[in-house]
Amino acid sequence: MRLPGGRLDAVAFAALADAAVELGDGGLELTSRGNVQVRGLAAGAERELSGRLHAVGLLPSVTHERVRNIVASPLSGRDGRGLVDVRPLVGELDAALCADAALAELPGRVLFALDDGRGDVIALRPDIGLYAVASDLFALVVGGIDSGLRVSGGEGVAAMLGVAREFLRVRGGRWRVAELDDPVGLVAGVRGESVELPAVAVRPPLGLVPQADGRVALSGLVPLGRLDSAQLTGLRGVAELIVTPWRTVVVPDLTDVPHSLAGSYGLVAAPDSTWAGLTACAGRPGCAKSLTDVRADAAAARAPGGGLAVHWTGCDRGCGRPAGRHVAVVATPGGYEVRLGDEVRARPEDLTATAAAVATTRRSE
Ligand code: SF4
Repeated sequence: MRLPGGRLDAVAFAALADAAVELGDGGLELTSRGNVQVRGLAAGAERELSGRLHAVGLLPSVTHERVRNIVASPLSGRDGRGLVDVRPLVGELDAALCADAALAELPGRVLFALDDGRGDVIALRPDIGLYAVASDLFALVVGGIDSGLRVSGGEGVAAMLGVAREFLRVRGGRWRVAELDDPVGLVAGVRGESVELPAVAVRPPLGLVPQADGRVALSGLVPLGRLDSAQLTGLRGVAELIVTPWRTVVVPDLTDVPHSLAGSYGLVAAPDSTWAGLTACAGRPGCAKSLTDVRADAAAARAPGGGLAVHWTGCDRGCGRPAGRHVAVVATPGGYEVRLGDEVRARPEDLTATAAAVATTRRSE
């Protein structure tokens, strides 16, 4: 399910949590685009699921569901950072995208981003994005680079969709804007000087984040990106939940500060936790292609140490891998391979050796 801006209100969250427990495998998977998945549906259950989602506004357009890939600065308008509140632009972009029949043909990989200037989601190198450079001035970003065109908030959505239409016209067989020889050529209008965009995302800090209005937001890591049934129960009743592209969630606008993150919602708030920087694809039994239960192995092979992010997958396809340089632990018919970029760093014999190879590789840069 696409969640533009990662946002779920209380009603939509309750419907999803119920669906995960009653129709799926009991958990909710978070994706690297700030979306969610319900897995383990019985045959035919998708009709019941889509009916439930539609009833709470989570499926506003059957034709455009694939293309509603919109990420936005998760703490925008709340913590006093950022140059502008991009939340209104999320709804505006989503509605305008769904209202244009032709844009249903965009490839499902095209990512839209709305960054309030703090440099979080723009570092995901979106296909089409707005990056605030002043309180009402945005850089129009195409293929992960600043096009040089500047637009106001009122012009931003039209400018983004103009780029999307032009990409549709010229894309041929390409899936992403960055695959074009000249992505900036998609932009109409007078372009000025470009700025360098942040290469590494300024992620929301973990823990309690003071808001400008005196309330607090709670930001926590979701181990291996899966909210289990106990967490879904614990989070029920929060007014809003924001799913970020980094497998964390934010519970904003709290007045009663929970004593313990773990006790309240089962979230991890310590940046040095062994769960930090660790992700995995669904693996077995959730994915038929998986060679093994990668989640169980990733959890068992956790080690402190920091360094590069680590992503475990049950086959070579690499679903859910994080943006940027990271250590990949890939299940092969001969066991795990530990890779860095295109290079295979180790083919360990067992899980203990895999854990050691991962620890060494993630600290090697
Ligand atoms: S990487 Fe392979 S095993 Fe993992 S979810 Fe994708 S297809 Fe399945």
